[in-house]
Amino acid sequence: MASHRSESARVLPPGMSAARFARSLAAFEAIVGAPNVCRGGAALAPYFDPFAPIEDASSFAPSAALLPADVDEIRAILRVANAARVPLWTVSTGRNFAYGGAAPRLAGSVVLDLQRLNRVLDVDERLAWALVEPGVSYFDLHAHLREHGLKLWVDPPAAGWGSVIGNTLERGFGYTAYGDHAAAQCGMEIVLANGDIVRTGMGAIGTGTAWQLYKPGYGPSFDALFTQSNYGIVTKMGLWLMPAPPAYVIGEIQFAREDDLGAIVDTLRALQLGGTIAQHAVIEGAIRRAASIAPRSRWYAGDGPMPEAAVAAMQRDLDIGRWNLHYALYGEPDVIELQRRQVERAFAVVPHARAFAKRYAGSEEPQGGGERNMAGIPSMSAFRMLDWPGGEGAHVDFSPLCPADGRDALRQYALVKARAAEYGFDYYGGFTAAGRCLHHVFAAIFARERREDAARAGDLLRALMSDARAAGYGVYRSHLLYMDYAAAQYDFNDGALLRLAQTVKDALDPQGVLAPGKQGVWPAAWRAMRGYT
Ligand code: ADP
Repeated sequence: MASHRSESARVLPPGMSAARFARSLAAFEAIVGAPNVCRGGAALAPYFDPFAPIEDASSFAPSAALLPADVDEIRAILRVANAARVPLWTVSTGRNFAYGGAAPRLAGSVVLDLQRLNRVLDVDERLAWALVEPGVSYFDLHAHLREHGLKLWVDPPAAGWGSVIGNTLERGFGYTAYGDHAAAQCGMEIVLANGDIVRTGMGAIGTGTAWQLYKPGYGPSFDALFTQSNYGIVTKMGLWLMPAPPAYVIGEIQFAREDDLGAIVDTLRALQLGGTIAQHAVIEGAIRRAASIAPRSRWYAGDGPMPEAAVAAMQRDLDIGRWNLHYALYGEPDVIELQRRQVERAFAVVPHARAFAKRYAGSEEPQGGGERNMAGIPSMSAFRMLDWPGGEGAHVDFSPLCPADGRDALRQYALVKARAAEYGFDYYGGFTAAGRCLHHVFAAIFARERREDAARAGDLLRALMSDARAAGYGVYRSHLLYMDYAAAQYDFNDGALLRLAQTVKDALDPQGVLAPGKQGVWPAAWRAMRGYT
């Protein structure tokens, strides 16, 4: 376990002596109290990446973790960090699994864990918004709405235990009409590296009434600057919630053949841009669909990728499609019934397509995890995927953006499947369709204790990123291991975008204390660490 390793080889912030670090830790302890400082051993174990796609499971090791109670403590921590140049790595609940968990990009950083700031500060049922702190998970917010009898839905991501703020800042997504989390965010409170507290948009009017209603405010608009960035510590965030619909339909359409993917994507794009399906829909490959039901050994026990014949047999056994489209419709029963018919009619052009639909009153709850997500109920069912290889599973994700064009989807699919097979992995993947583009997410799943498989998954990821770039595609998110590599691929005009990001970084954080290296953005103080893992 990582905890033993962390005890045996104590990691320090780069360039800092043990004595100086001990003095910083004592100063941090005076701010947050001894129980809220994790110095090593079991207390620090949660801050290592449990899914590290690299031979040494203790890579990206933190030196310590701090759990402040409020904004004042965060500001006091920043004073110490700036004075001693201690790199901090902010997490809200640290469940960013498959992209690094709570672990920092720069080994030796101190993790700033905001899980104790966990209040739902306000919810307005009429105007349908909530204001939350970083430690509020999707489960928490959902429970809060239930307890108070509020007729609003959250939009859960695949695993409901994560933080609303953490997921939104990483531009995560879900499956209801509010599935684009960054788009449904409105208003933030941010502590800057110099300790200044900023409220964005209408929140800058001290006695304001519209912080959670109108994102831009007046003048330059900043919210997006704080997503996937290391420019500040977000301590409050507003988000829009979906008014509970009177009824909803959850539909599944199964398609028999691999190359149906092109027609599925083209048909779906027309339905989404035309407004019939107003929210995300998910096109799930057969293996991902099967992994929610049983481990792979039920159909294939060999090493390497599952052969085509085994996939076909599995498909028959489970009576599922090679591709399985999941979509939902929300609204008045007769309106969504018409929409459902329109959707099914549109997909009937694909030979052998089989359509299923379940109708629910707004107050009814589906049973299956995926369906519950579409009904605004957080679940942990996505974790069943970890059972796929047998043993305690882990995964890393390759997440290229894909134009919503059948040819692009087929091209990406063929590319990923072939490369994954070469490295010994099944194509466990699917596409979340969002109108003009698709989030293509492929997961390389491996058994955690087989470190050579973990390293191979990491190597595969790098090969995939390079393949994708050569074909003109880029990833929307990346594991710590490849943050620099991903950023370097956005290379127009000799990397002008990254130069801009660094200019902003140096202006806002001259000592470079906030999340050095996040998304490939290194402050001047640590720029020599780029590429180093
Ligand atoms: P979740 O638990 O929802 O998966 P995390 O807490 O792991 O999310 O956060 C994901 C990433 O988002 C972190 O690694 C960090 O880079 C960034 N992040 C999370 N919370 C904050 C915050 N409050 N302020 C700034 N950045 C944050």
